[in-house]
Amino acid sequence: MSQDASTDGDLRNTGLSLKHDREWDYELDRIVEAVEERNATKVGLQFPEGLKRRGPAVADDLRAITDDDVTYMLSGQPCYGACDLDTYLMRRTDVFVHFGHSPMKESDKIIYVPLFSNVDPFPMMGDALDELPEEDVGLVTTAQHMNRFDEMKAWLEDEGYTVHTRKGDDRLTHEGQVLGCNYASADIDADQVLYVGGGKFHPLGLAMEHPDKKVVIADPVNNVVTVADTEKFMKQRYGAVHRAMDAEKWGVIFCTKIGQGRWDMAERIVEDNDDAYLITMDEVTPDRLRNFDMDAFVNTGCPRITTDDGPQFHKPMLTPGEYRIAVGDEPLDSLSFDTFHGTW
Ligand code: SF4
Repeated sequence: MSQDASTDGDLRNTGLSLKHDREWDYELDRIVEAVEERNATKVGLQFPEGLKRRGPAVADDLRAITDDDVTYMLSGQPCYGACDLDTYLMRRTDVFVHFGHSPMKESDKIIYVPLFSNVDPFPMMGDALDELPEEDVGLVTTAQHMNRFDEMKAWLEDEGYTVHTRKGDDRLTHEGQVLGCNYASADIDADQVLYVGGGKFHPLGLAMEHPDKKVVIADPVNNVVTVADTEKFMKQRYGAVHRAMDAEKWGVIFCTKIGQGRWDMAERIVEDNDDAYLITMDEVTPDRLRNFDMDAFVNTGCPRITTDDGPQFHKPMLTPGEYRIAVGDEPLDSLSFDTFHGTW
């Protein structure tokens, strides 16, 4: 992901912003209970990037309240979602705790501790009402604000709205929840959707995935209300597609992270194109691709890498759908947001 902490699309900035630093509820009791129940001696702790610095203190707190023979291990792998479990550490521990994201797939081994944002969403929701003139409104948010979703819905109803919500597909845990790669919870019967959460990139994906809907952003992290405008973003994507149209050699990235692998998709591209080479990797970064002598890349891993970090790669980086446009299999106007469905 982008190294610029001020970037809107940085997943570390969406609701877990250190601007609102606080004592999170790490649910230590739940962890201790699992450790005791399973007679665990090895416990893995995985934090998202913005909270990694808290890891040692959480390990200290756990050490103080569990037996001396329990060893706590911190994952040093980058982590941007529940799709991004440290499977190496997980296999070597009796209890594995994943902080900061809601479950993508339940497992007896994993304890998910969600870490909800403490910001008050209602002032910004109030400011957003001017942009929501119709009676029917959809409501979506990110995992970090999920603890207040029912309150948000009731608040909108009190304002006179008919609020439409739904749970998306298997990749999502909660009703109304969106991910950077999945907006199925906005498949609702309303022409306007209120997104409550930090950053602009989630709602941009939402607006591209649902072009017929007006997407209003109430951002309680940065205290702003805006309407998602996909034009600049679309221009950037069309630019990347155009630059890749002359490409001869393609690097096709298959991401080995547990929740980001789209093997069939990657394999199909390589089978159909003699000038395409499959590249497997976990973290997809500009540095790691620099030494490959390719004209363009297509990323079947996290779509946000392509859209948020695309301009930082030395060669055009496309989504699988954009690749099909660049090689002439699909028309230019079929360009759409790359979404992920299912788990693993
Ligand atoms: S694949 Fe989806 S859930 Fe995972 S980091 Fe990317 S946007 Fe987030």
